[in-house]
Amino acid sequence: MKLYNLKDHNEQVSFAQAVTQGLGRQQGLFFPHDLPEFSLTDIDAMLEMDFVSRSSKILSAFIGDEIPFQRLEERVRSAFAFPAPVVRVSDDVACLELFHGPTLAFKDFGGRFMAQMLSHIRGDKPVTILTATSGDTGAAVAHAFYGMQNVRVVILYPRGKISPLQEKLFCTLGGNIETVAVEGDFDACQALVKQAFDDETLKQTLGLNSANSINISRLLAQICYYFEAVAQLPQEARNQLVISVPSGNFGDLTAGLLAKALGLPVKRFIAATNANDTVPRYLQSGEWTPKATVATLSNAMDVSQPNNWPRVEELFRRKVWQLKELGYAAVDEETTRAAVRELKTLGYISEPHAAVAWRALRDALQPGEFGLFLGTAHPAKFKESVDAILGETLPLPPELAERAGMALLSVNLPADFDALRALLLK
Ligand SMILES: *Cc1c(COP(=O)(O)O)cnc(C)c1O
Repeated sequence: MKLYNLKDHNEQVSFAQAVTQGLGRQQGLFFPHDLPEFSLTDIDAMLEMDFVSRSSKILSAFIGDEIPFQRLEERVRSAFAFPAPVVRVSDDVACLELFHGPTLAFKDFGGRFMAQMLSHIRGDKPVTILTATSGDTGAAVAHAFYGMQNVRVVILYPRGKISPLQEKLFCTLGGNIETVAVEGDFDACQALVKQAFDDETLKQTLGLNSANSINISRLLAQICYYFEAVAQLPQEARNQLVISVPSGNFGDLTAGLLAKALGLPVKRFIAATNANDTVPRYLQSGEWTPKATVATLSNAMDVSQPNNWPRVEELFRRKVWQLKELGYAAVDEETTRAAVRELKTLGYISEPHAAVAWRALRDALQPGEFGLFLGTAHPAKFKESVDAILGETLPLPPELAERAGMALLSVNLPADFDALRALLLK
């Protein structure tokens, strides 16, 4: 597989290099040189396959002969060891539930596949995973790498800005997992990580590796569940399919668009955000004017400078698609609360991220279309909010109940690069 740097097309790397480096020169994102495309006959056959076989075929179409098919399939089987069911919410709307993995969020797919790829590529060379999280990436990365030989994981997150349960889920592991609570917002954490990757000494000494949504292996993994969703839908829904993606860094949406580029029959996508609406405003006005990040109920989407956006633009350019075909909506807090309640009256318990996507979908769906929204996290992960909105107490799933009683092992850090550097070199 060949990839190029979006900021410098002359920098070309292999899949192994892209996975290991994360980012290219000038912090440029890597993008696939070839965009594979399946025929309609291929797609029909693939939709009949099981999740692991189909996903291996998709991933192999990108990765090519860099990883032999059998080895890749074994890795995929280890990574995708849980289902992604489509659950009907109303006549013409369903939720793709991506939260049945170990950390109850969709980031398990990308995190676990990336861990498998890194371990395949690195063999026994030591590596330090450094990543910033606004919530769920951290948990997914921590659990994906927990206990792996020769891997040290350092996770930065905005102190007090992620849900207490979310924090418990990944800050209680210990062992090779170090968690750092930063005095600042997610963008500050992300900036610190970027600075660390600009520091050649650090990079070399530690074998630094990023595991957030910019890593290409995570994106490729996420393509697979869009196919899995379509495989579960009735035939007539397939060509009338509108998919609404609750978006923060826009990795999930990028993966969906890549699935469409491969030939998956999706009519259109909707980019749904909370009040951090840089992209909806951009799609409306053509002007890129990020504002300060604001805290919302859907805190994993509290991102005002989404780092995967350049990939979305590149894909539209390469496919000669029009950005105006992309649906969009920003959903405010009051409407998000109302959406969680409305979903409950439909018999579906949801949480703020999925509720944002559902609301955007409901407002945009035309007669004859079938709507799918992504359920990116288990409602119990956002229990405080959901309980307050619905005025009832949700039971905790066992994965969370177990961790809820454990002590946090995080260290505090100011949003200061020298402090981070010292911590990393300690
Ligand atoms: C990360 C996350 C999102 C946003 O996904 P992006 O790929 O960053 O756009 C949405 N919902 C939940 C629950 C998340 O954890």
